Amino acid sequence: MRKPDIFDEIIQCLKTGASVGADASMSEETLHDLYARPRRAAAPSPAPAASPAPTAASVRQAARAPQPQQLSAVPAYAPDLPEWESLRTECASCMKCPLGRTRTHMVFADGNPRAELMFIGEGPGADEDASGIPFVGRAGELLSRMIAAMTFDRATETCIANIVKCRPPGNRNPSDEEAAACMPYLKRQIAMVNPKVIVLLGAVPLLYLFNLKGIMKLRGRWLDYDGIRVMPTYHPAFLLRNPPAKKDAWADLQAVMAEFGRKPVPRR
Ligand code: SF4
Ligand code: URA
Repeated sequence: MRKPDIFDEIIQCLKTGASVGADASMSEETLHDLYARPRRAAAPSPAPAASPAPTAASVRQAARAPQPQQLSAVPAYAPDLPEWESLRTECASCMKCPLGRTRTHMVFADGNPRAELMFIGEGPGADEDASGIPFVGRAGELLSRMIAAMTFDRATETCIANIVKCRPPGNRNPSDEEAAACMPYLKRQIAMVNPKVIVLLGAVPLLYLFNLKGIMKLRGRWLDYDGIRVMPTYHPAFLLRNPPAKKDAWADLQAVMAEFGRKPVPRR
């Protein structure tokens, strides 16, 4: 059983409405107060509520990504966007790099191609290869909670894609050649979505979209991609191995929230 983390805490605050205040701004001091204090088993409701406040478990359940076996390669939310669908069809039969020979499914994107917020990861893992949908495994479950904590709806308010669309065997990073072969598709996707903000998840998209190394140093600093604001942060798989870094990732995501005028959860 997974231990609750700061994203569960934020989601719990949002669900109960307990601490979302009118002028919620997150100072360094507030951040420290919010995350350095001991965790409570379940957040109490601030006022008598008509229905019982959700439990931490029910909130986590709601935030959890759907299981791969329930998914098909075409997402439930599919707005009418013919260029997007024809690019999907083009990618589905692509053999431009060796990853095409070993894939089960090409993993095109998830979410809404008209979204204002786009996330870019590395490439499909085993769960994504099996389902045809990005970020549905353990890292995907964490990404879903990060998005929920940002007050965004993953399916309708974000678009999620990867540097390569076919799984690198054994979960290795894509090679330079594989990334170079696949990037034109991603660039066309970015041009179609034309998001307000892109969040880069980890070192691989930072390397291939900006030719930059050093995610540790560069995370949290705004970049520009063809006039689109870009925020590099840690990859959720890294956060699973390094839970203390979730605090830094949350600070990066709050900077993104501010771009959309969305308020972070204030301290109680
Ligand atoms: Fe084509 Fe990209 Fe798949 Fe390589 S990873 S076969 S370039 S879709
Ligand atoms: N990690 C990624 O970078 N992308 C996915 O789709 C899944 C895991």
